[in-house]
Amino acid sequence: MSNDRTERTDAPVASNFIRNAIDEDNRNRKWAGRVETRFPPEPNGYLHVGHAKSICLNFGVAADYDGICHLRFDDTNPEKESMEYADSIVEAVEWLGYSWDKAGKSHMYFASDYYEQLYHFAEILIERGKAYVDSQSAEEMRVNRGSATEAGRPSPFRDRTPAENLDLFRRMRAGEFAEGAHVLRAKIDMASPNFNMRDPVIYRIRFAHHYRTGDTWCVYPMYDYAHCISDAIEGITHSLCTLEFEDHRPLYDWVLDQLAQAGEFKRPLPQQIEFARLNVTYAITSKRKLLQLVTEKHVAGWDDPRMPTIVGLRRRGFTPGSIRLFCDRIGVSKADSWIDMGVLEQSLRDDLDEAAPRAIAVLDPLKLVIDNFPEDGEEPCTAPVHPHHPERGSRAFPFTRELWIEREDFNEHPPKGYFRLFPGNKVRLKYGFIVECTGFDKDEQGNVTAVHCNYFADSKSGTEGANNYKVKGTIHWVSAKTAYPAEVRLYDRLFNEPQPDAGGRDFLTAINPNSKRVVQAYLEPGAAAMNAEDRVQFERHGYFVADRYDSQPGKPVFNRIVSLKDSWGR
Ligand code: ATP
Ligand code: MG
Repeated sequence: MSNDRTERTDAPVASNFIRNAIDEDNRNRKWAGRVETRFPPEPNGYLHVGHAKSICLNFGVAADYDGICHLRFDDTNPEKESMEYADSIVEAVEWLGYSWDKAGKSHMYFASDYYEQLYHFAEILIERGKAYVDSQSAEEMRVNRGSATEAGRPSPFRDRTPAENLDLFRRMRAGEFAEGAHVLRAKIDMASPNFNMRDPVIYRIRFAHHYRTGDTWCVYPMYDYAHCISDAIEGITHSLCTLEFEDHRPLYDWVLDQLAQAGEFKRPLPQQIEFARLNVTYAITSKRKLLQLVTEKHVAGWDDPRMPTIVGLRRRGFTPGSIRLFCDRIGVSKADSWIDMGVLEQSLRDDLDEAAPRAIAVLDPLKLVIDNFPEDGEEPCTAPVHPHHPERGSRAFPFTRELWIEREDFNEHPPKGYFRLFPGNKVRLKYGFIVECTGFDKDEQGNVTAVHCNYFADSKSGTEGANNYKVKGTIHWVSAKTAYPAEVRLYDRLFNEPQPDAGGRDFLTAINPNSKRVVQAYLEPGAAAMNAEDRVQFERHGYFVADRYDSQPGKPVFNRIVSLKDSWGR
């Protein structure tokens, strides 16, 4: 079964302030109806569920307006970036079901492809007296930046002439100066109440190897400078970003306005619009902290099924459709908030309920012996592939003398209201027969090792005789003779705290030591034919996936994606 490319529904799109802003622009003919967004990851880590929100928003909005969303790598920090990360980002966005191709043209871009232009624009700012080379030390710059109550003090180098600045900047590029000797700063307003406007640094010297441009450059642009210009170069109309950039918007506008005045860009200029970032309970959405989980081996890797990375969610078994559904449900807003992990899980259930075939799994096996059933007897039984879709056919498996049942479905001393197996009680073995418990075996430690029953030959499910019996309990089973023995990984939340890094807590202290349990289960025989990334509902237990990497043909191993019911906050 494959549901990686779940059909998108045509459900009406909920309006939000971003769509309202676009509608307003369209009414005013600001962009002649054109909508171009971009998703701008820095290739310095794997994407996580928070990025999924940004991806769904940017690609989703563009699609709704028949526009296009660019995939742009914001790769201006040579030290931390790599092709491995860039490749993983491409794979994640594609897996989520989005494309940056339109009318045969790819819209994948790299800020590093704009280095020459970015440099050229910096020279233009210098020539126009809007940028200068500052030679203060980092510490001096920090001190002279002022405080919330005190204006910054101008650098002693602030009034260098354009010619002097140009000469120094060119020599910075030529590698004549050590790191930290000089920076290029925008000349804006050292008294601005907004720190971002107090002559922000726009270029710094770094003798670092870049994963794409190699050693070509030793001056690198800062994010705030490179980002808005990249948007303008690509003709982005609406630049959607998270709220922490709200205070950077005046700088975004300032840089583009300067270059428009210089005749480098035509108006209208791209508009930055901020939305709240996504926080999910029991998850971490900081790349730095996720990297720490990986490098310190608290998890098995970026794609550990407990990781909130997109590769982790994929490996866990989440479908692209469930993640898109989740992003639709949480919507976009201007206020930061925490979304319950249960909302993501429910999206998976809702996405898979219709799609996933059903099967039986016994996760904690206990032997059930039907003493009055012939030793070599086999009675064929069937069950629907999907209870609401008879057209999808049925599964077949035999009923035999020895079966596996769940250990918790037998109780020597049944509490009140327990309707499953105990001596003297009758239950239905689902899709099979009614059995009556006659006794059980114990080992020397007092553990129950087998349960004994007699079956009623005329009670088979789907036959007339089935109606002659009234029982209160139904349990599932697999034949010990034909069961497929499989490894099943039962994952739980990675953290014990809903907000693992809240209030400055060291998130490592909130790690749940029992977040992974591996069991040897018995599955109905058909499960052996499942392929990597096939998903299934094991009745009563939840949704499972055949692990993407550890499953071999004919020998799948399974991850539990989610249980059938929300058990968070147990
Ligand atoms: P950093 O910049 O610290 O490396 P980042 O998470 O912001 O980390 P980026 O690669 O810059 O990583 O993110 C790409 C895009 O995804 C940005 O536009 C960013 O605003 C958005 N984004 C990142 N985290 C979230 C989140 N939790 N919710 C929504 N959008 C997010
Ligand atoms: Mg960022």
